[in-house]
Amino acid sequence: MSNRYSCPNCGFELKAQALFCPKCGSDENTGWSEDTIYDDIGLPDASQNEAKKKSVIKQDLIYLIMIILFLSMLYVSLRIF
Ligand SMILES: [Zn+2]
Repeated sequence: MSNRYSCPNCGFELKAQALFCPKCGSDENTGWSEDTIYDDIGLPDASQNEAKKKSVIKQDLIYLIMIILFLSMLYVSLRIF
């Protein structure tokens, strides 16, 4: 059994004990995905667009939660009177 393996993300040869890939920054916590701190390094445009889409969805969700909180506070304050 080999004690070396390749990064599933970029193919860089890793030691068996490697906790993360020194080349692309993937690790077990990020699921060996492309969402790493090294986002700037040569990723295809498609994945960058997808990341942008994800952050837009997150922003929408935050706005939605703020609106719901505001409306529930309004509802509670109206019930007091
Ligand atoms: Zn890698």
